[in-house]
Amino acid sequence: MRAILLGAPGSGKGTHAEDIKAHYNCAHISTGDMLRANLKDKTELGKKAEIYMDSGALVPDELIIGMIEERLAESDCKIGFLLDGFPRTIPQAEALDELLGKMKCPLDCVFLFDVDNEVVVNRLTNRRTCGNCGKITNMLYHNGESCDDCGGPLQHRDDDKEDVIRKRLAVYHTQTEPLIEWYEKKKMLKRFDGTRDREDIFNEIKVMFTE
Ligand code: AMP
Repeated sequence: MRAILLGAPGSGKGTHAEDIKAHYNCAHISTGDMLRANLKDKTELGKKAEIYMDSGALVPDELIIGMIEERLAESDCKIGFLLDGFPRTIPQAEALDELLGKMKCPLDCVFLFDVDNEVVVNRLTNRRTCGNCGKITNMLYHNGESCDDCGGPLQHRDDDKEDVIRKRLAVYHTQTEPLIEWYEKKKMLKRFDGTRDREDIFNEIKVMFTE
């Protein structure tokens, strides 16, 4: 499968990507995770991206497009890939079209997960990531400060604080939402109510791909 996962921050893209990846055996490419790894390793890209990420703004297109181009050239993408958090602007979508054209790898579809702003704020202010294994935990359904899977420390992302979340949502609505119409016109968009159960959404995706 070659697909884009589109939706606001906190709409569940990463969660659905886990299910799709496990079933369809494709590479999960999260630009947010890649940027955070660059930040942690203090790479040149990480240093350039940090100021934008801290404030909830988008990292400039040219930095992101270069990073994605290198990633899509890796061998694990040959069997398929899920783009999570990319593209986020029309110029990124144009660059992706061009890149996939050159690679002769057309996209299968774009999954959109619709979720209201207040649901996102509630989800993200309660979201913690394990500093050891990366598992996501929702504190509304969890006691204590350690990961259920590995016992690692649960951490709250700096950009998951309410003021930054609201900025990220505003950026999504102005800069990323135009992609909905862009992919609708190409007849590639599959829309989901992102508040539905994870299992129901995944079952629908599986049905879609056996049609
Ligand atoms: P995410 O984990 O996808 O919410 O991304 C975290 C942050 O990384 C975003 O708020 C942006 O600052 C940056 N980022 C991730 N993906 C992109 C992208 N495709 N274009 C620009 N900035 C991005």
